[in-house]
Amino acid sequence: MAHFEDLNLNTPLLNALSDLGFTTPTPIQEQAFNIVASGKDVVGIAQTGTGKTYAYMLPILKNLKFSKQDNPRVLVLVPTRELVVQVVDEIEKLSKYINNRVLGVYGGTNINTQKQAIAEGIDILVATPGRLYDLALTRVLQLKSIQKLVIDEVDVMLDLGFRHQLINIFDILPEKRQNIMFSATMTQDVDLLINDFFKTPERVSIAVSGTPLDNISQQRYIVPNFYTKVNLLTHLLKDKEHFNKVLIFVAYKRMADRLFDNLDERFHDELCVIHSNKTQNYRLRSIEQFRNGENRILVATDVMARGLDIDNVSHVINFDTPDFPENYMHRIGRTGRAEREGEALVFTTKNEQEAIENIELLMKMTIPVLEIPETVTISTDLIEEERPQIKERNNPNKRRDDDVPGPAFHEKSEKNSKENLGGSYKFKIAAKYKKPKTRGDKNYNRRNKRK
Ligand code: AMP
Repeated sequence: MAHFEDLNLNTPLLNALSDLGFTTPTPIQEQAFNIVASGKDVVGIAQTGTGKTYAYMLPILKNLKFSKQDNPRVLVLVPTRELVVQVVDEIEKLSKYINNRVLGVYGGTNINTQKQAIAEGIDILVATPGRLYDLALTRVLQLKSIQKLVIDEVDVMLDLGFRHQLINIFDILPEKRQNIMFSATMTQDVDLLINDFFKTPERVSIAVSGTPLDNISQQRYIVPNFYTKVNLLTHLLKDKEHFNKVLIFVAYKRMADRLFDNLDERFHDELCVIHSNKTQNYRLRSIEQFRNGENRILVATDVMARGLDIDNVSHVINFDTPDFPENYMHRIGRTGRAEREGEALVFTTKNEQEAIENIELLMKMTIPVLEIPETVTISTDLIEEERPQIKERNNPNKRRDDDVPGPAFHEKSEKNSKENLGGSYKFKIAAKYKKPKTRGDKNYNRRNKRK
């Protein structure tokens, strides 16, 4: 195994690494070092937790000469405010013996304070795209000296709809620059962005997305509905010793709040939540409290928690099953970090069966299923999304059997589509009158989740 000494680093960096207790580069650090240092465009595929921040920062810091000029020379774009804070922190740790100026800027905070900090002169700027663009428009921030652009978590950026903002930023950056992108997954959107804007980048990649880390054990519970999931979760969380730092994922904000409300009474002092509707301060506080162990349980949405670097997470619980298998990989990657053992659990309902199959397909493995403990109450209550849609009353065009709730109707329609290519009479009528084909739309949750 290589040592940091083999990477041709300078003494200040080696000393900083040694202070951090890091002796050997991680695989992505080893692979990316020479390529990033060469000045070529680079696309790195690496999950968070692999040491990817230092994979780009080590070669950048090694080559960054001391300069008295005030305009930033390195720009790091990250998707969320939390990541700005985290990346700045990592750079500062690495810069312990280097005289450089690092600044993080993000939206939702006072722009004038940031302008002042910029005016004082910086070498490395870490930013979210929106705030960066706003600052560039004020002209206090001059981007003409940027030599290196890093875009971290490109897949999340594109998921969050930052494509246009990124393109606007590319427009105002000097053309002659090195582009370094890191993404946990190679999605079609990422590929498009690369093809459109980058000059035949070198690719470095470790762990193909879909390869879970060996030190994460995975198990699954088959659970009928939301409230039974809450009961099961409550049962598990009672074991404070085993479940000592638990990150619970849900797909969307409303679900995060709903779950939080349901757990709050019992776990009030141990519980926090983050999603994008929470204020910046609230989110930072939640993360800090979870990080430092003050709170044992954090409920989070995918996008918020992706990329967060929190150590010693004992369990990742997938309260729902993500539609995109990659998200499952991201979620479980929050545990088992730095080669520690981690446990991942996933709760699946019947409606989530297809999603779990896709995940298992991606990982090429089956997740073992556990029995729900007998003491857990199986609830029959349903939340709004689980109930069949409310039916239209008194519609003269409606035939009686239109009232069949969603799933049964779908089974039937699937059967029809196989046996009778013309579709049933009901379908034809429905098409003619442009009525919704079904009121129990099985994709309802799915669509809402993606919002
Ligand atoms: P990242 O993937 O950049 O989020 O890094 C994950 C964690 O690994 C961070 O806490 C880093 O400080 C840590 N780390 C980075 N490089 C190394 C290394 N070579 N050895 C051990 N830990 C590292």
